[in-house]
Amino acid sequence: MQHTISRRQFLGSTTALALGSLNIAEVLGQSQDLLLVNGRIHTMDAASRVVSQLLIQRGRFAAVGNNVSARGARRVDLKGKTVIPGIIDAHNHIVLVGNRPGWHTPLEHVFTIPDAIAALQARSADVPRGEFITTVGPISANQFAERRLPTLTELDAVNRPVYLQAAQGGTRTNTEGKAWLEARGVTVAADGAIAGPALALALQTLRKELLTPETRKRSALAALQYYARLGITTHRDCGAFHSDAPSGGVANENMYTMHEPFLALHHDGAMPARLRVDFLHQDPPTANPPLPTLGPRLRNAFPFFGDEWMKTGGIGEFTGGGVEGLRAIARAGWRGEDHALNLAGVTNLIKDRETVNAEIPIGNLRWIISHIPEFPVDLANRMNTMGMGVLVGWGPLRNGTNVGPPYRMLMTHAIKKGYHSDGGDITVINPWLNFYTIVTGKNLAGQPILGDQTLTRQEMIWLATAANKWFVEEDDLGSIEPGNHADLAVLDRDFFTISETDITRTRSLLTIVGGRVVHDALTSG
Ligand SMILES: [Zn+2]
Repeated sequence: MQHTISRRQFLGSTTALALGSLNIAEVLGQSQDLLLVNGRIHTMDAASRVVSQLLIQRGRFAAVGNNVSARGARRVDLKGKTVIPGIIDAHNHIVLVGNRPGWHTPLEHVFTIPDAIAALQARSADVPRGEFITTVGPISANQFAERRLPTLTELDAVNRPVYLQAAQGGTRTNTEGKAWLEARGVTVAADGAIAGPALALALQTLRKELLTPETRKRSALAALQYYARLGITTHRDCGAFHSDAPSGGVANENMYTMHEPFLALHHDGAMPARLRVDFLHQDPPTANPPLPTLGPRLRNAFPFFGDEWMKTGGIGEFTGGGVEGLRAIARAGWRGEDHALNLAGVTNLIKDRETVNAEIPIGNLRWIISHIPEFPVDLANRMNTMGMGVLVGWGPLRNGTNVGPPYRMLMTHAIKKGYHSDGGDITVINPWLNFYTIVTGKNLAGQPILGDQTLTRQEMIWLATAANKWFVEEDDLGSIEPGNHADLAVLDRDFFTISETDITRTRSLLTIVGGRVVHDALTSG
């Protein structure tokens, strides 16, 4: 794999990337006219049409139906495969994932420890001897049949230093990684576990010593490509906790510089997915002078500035500054988002917004509250009255019974709702792990957590595609309709009919963004 990827190299080469156990020819082509035939194309339009053909011209859907013809377009026979609009993850932390130290290796598609080891071994072919293979954030012990992370001994089968820091299940290294970390004062247990203060020191040390603009750019590209293989074509990033210097916190980065690797990819014309960027602020309500970071942001930045590949958004997933911060955001005419972790939290957020809305109407600003594990219908009524929306998901790693959010209630309510993974630091991004939970009501350990608040598969895909138009504020994404950006995923199995356990295994065979083939295991595989 090339360390530096120029536009010409990137667009002109067919590079076999071994990421995880996927070993797929990658071609990021220029937009080309494509006629897709013999598909089961779930359009997610207002009539929920399922058609067999579509035509892409100049990056957009030109015709969608059962009798589409075109001269000069490349014809692709889908052989009955299921097609969905490109998935929009309307709140995640892909920018954090794109700034991880080492040769970051997403492992959200492997489900046993031997498969994880095999994926890491395959990855080592790209990695110079002695350099770290890492997975930091979106990985979980419960995704594995063994319900644990690999041990030091198991990771020693990988001929490189390995560092796995999971959103759930702890942190592990192997013998080579242990020696490197211990030489820098990090305490590592005999089984490779790293915990307590040693954990923050370990991640901070890896960041200090391994991160460069080039490695960040490499990770940013790898992250976007990985999720394109799983069908995500648009990410809405919701920020990080700000640290000026390399931090030991998995959710920390420098919020003023962390977008640079993505801007560099965008500059090269090499984005394999769309990125929407929100700005996270945490000014204390008591700060004097008030709003030390939010104030300058609102005065000096542009909301919704950029192009179809990369664009700024609003403030979130923390607005900061208390009610005064909300007033400033409303006065500036920006979008604002906060997350809620429980009933008291969401109730307080709504009360503050009602205060501000009475002074400065927010009805047109599409303010958002995300996560909402506890969310009774009266709160949905109050938010809907203010023109607000909710983002839900955030489930595969949760435990307990009826831990929410109330998907079924939301589907029958008028309030705007959309899908988010919130993955990257505290949970997984893989949409199929999230869809599994929302459709079956079970977490990744197979335990029921949602009670009767599950969605149908049709509702699930709608929530992660067409419903998310409102949250990215773009009507021409999220559904397969003439005039819209040509973003889609051809799935390797029929999500609408496969067994429950098969859902987590779903991948994309062919991912197209704006008419560009960004992942192809169908026609070149
Ligand atoms: Zn988040």
